[in-house]
Amino acid sequence: MINIAIDGPAGAGKSTIAKLVAKKLGFIYVDTGAMYRAIAYDLLKNGIDPEDEEALRAELSKIDVALSYEGDTQIVLLNGENVNGFIRTEEVGNMASKSSAKPSVRAALLELQRDMAKKNNVVMDGRDIGTNILPDAQVKIYLTASSKERANRRYKELIEKGMEADLKKIEADIIDRDNRDMNREIAPLKQAEDAEYLDSSDMTIDQVVEHIISKVN
Ligand code: C5P
Repeated sequence: MINIAIDGPAGAGKSTIAKLVAKKLGFIYVDTGAMYRAIAYDLLKNGIDPEDEEALRAELSKIDVALSYEGDTQIVLLNGENVNGFIRTEEVGNMASKSSAKPSVRAALLELQRDMAKKNNVVMDGRDIGTNILPDAQVKIYLTASSKERANRRYKELIEKGMEADLKKIEADIIDRDNRDMNREIAPLKQAEDAEYLDSSDMTIDQVVEHIISKVN
């Protein structure tokens, strides 16, 4: 199987790029952030504080995260229910960043992610794919952009979806999230030694997509 790992900070364009690369190559796109978001959504819904290890473990034992596909669209199933419509808010993203630092949360998703890559040609994006989940991936990219550019992109994305957005707050949240994701003890966000560093601040989406595809062929 061919595995492409794309890691990088929030808002770097990973999912947009990974989706297009997957479509062009006929691979499956696996958005691991969505899995962490599904767990975060469940914790928010049930009022669970991820710092309360006991409550967290008890909740994790009750939930099952799975993926299915409708055409190119990845559907995240939380106990069989499609939660795609609930997981894209900043609130869920911020909770995902807190809860994903917990070893029990990461352990709950590790095998699911590795299994997808074992059975399929995948483009998988996240924070620890090249370093931890798929260390043998044939192509590894560390995709980033300035925090200002990333905040702008996320702001536009939310506005286009008709959601409310505050640019200053989004940039502050992005910086907070980067700090948490890069400095946590378990599976922190960092560039794998054999990953290519790609700053997309001044690149078009097509340029990034073509560049990644050229590394596969
Ligand atoms: O990429 P996205 O913004 O959807 O991810 C939400 C959060 O999930 C990230 O801030 C990060 O803390 C966590 N995450 C992770 N490992 C991954 C993917 C996401 O820790 N592989």
